[in-house]
Amino acid sequence: MSMINTTPDLALEAIDLEKTYPGRRGIAPKQALKGVNLHIPRGSIFGLLGPNGAGKSTLINIFAGLTKKTGGRGQIWGIDIDQNPRQARAAIGVVPQEINMDPFFSPLESLEFQAGFYGVPKSERRSMEILEAMGLADKAKAYVRELSGGMKRRLLIAKALVHNPPVLVLDEPTAGVDIELRRQLWSYVRELHANGATIVLTTHYLEEAQELCDQIAIINHGEVVACDSTQSLLKAIDHKTLVIDPVEPLDGVPAGLEAYDTTIRADGALAITYKFGAQSVAELIERVRASGLRINDLRTEEPDLEDVFMALTYDQTGSSEDTAKSA
Ligand code: ADP
Ligand code: MG
Repeated sequence: MSMINTTPDLALEAIDLEKTYPGRRGIAPKQALKGVNLHIPRGSIFGLLGPNGAGKSTLINIFAGLTKKTGGRGQIWGIDIDQNPRQARAAIGVVPQEINMDPFFSPLESLEFQAGFYGVPKSERRSMEILEAMGLADKAKAYVRELSGGMKRRLLIAKALVHNPPVLVLDEPTAGVDIELRRQLWSYVRELHANGATIVLTTHYLEEAQELCDQIAIINHGEVVACDSTQSLLKAIDHKTLVIDPVEPLDGVPAGLEAYDTTIRADGALAITYKFGAQSVAELIERVRASGLRINDLRTEEPDLEDVFMALTYDQTGSSEDTAKSA
């Protein structure tokens, strides 16, 4: 994209980043970020995955210049956000979590206004080109109220692109959108990435991070609890699940299988989780047969990101805090 770099440097870097929201009127101060360290490589599709209230938007908003950090340092494309705020911000485009749009601007006007805000000279503006890339060319002069939810999301992405930033950050781009639109947005994101943009996205959808991101940081209660390539995160889980559909319905775990990690699922299937390497599936099936259970059908399930996520973000209450804040 527009900025040329000669070293394989970082797109975004957080160093001991902290944020405490001040308390007011009987509400205690809230430490939303507790010293976050992140190194997001240029060229990646990086996922910031965590439950509601984890601190994802706070982190994004600090880089976007919308929220003031209370500690630590941040760099965008190698530029310090304190020392060079304007230059740093020119290197990032942020698509906010909430859809807020001026109802009086057409998409084209909206992009032109945004370009003006970033000081992009008229001769360098590419508003129509961006609208085209986002599949909005035929809506360039439409009223905002004529746009569907999906079109509004795409318009927000278009707005974030007007100054041609090398890093595009999307905060929960598909929260609350249906599966078809989600897939459509994913393909737009992939296309932007293929055209050279570094993508950072926050999500609480495991599937989204697993599907789209090459690297993932899992954040919970203001702390990074895991950060690795998607592949390595998945490899870190060393178990599989054997799922058996029994001939006769089960009224309990069959005798002889008590030592295993077993559950009877709502559909009546018996799920047995086992460590691979430590045990062969053939041996396990022998044990099941020996217990007297007659097998109608069976399959194995690979671990997915949900297992990592659950293991790392589980807390005693079993619930994520601040669900009220989520969109
Ligand atoms: P996420 O985006 O991961 O859902 P947020 O960054 O929005 O999480 O919020 C992190 C924590 O900070 C939550 O406990 C939230 O309630 C709190 N928080 C967010 N914004 C504010 C604010 N403006 N004032 C006070 N607390 C806030
Ligand atoms: Mg958020």
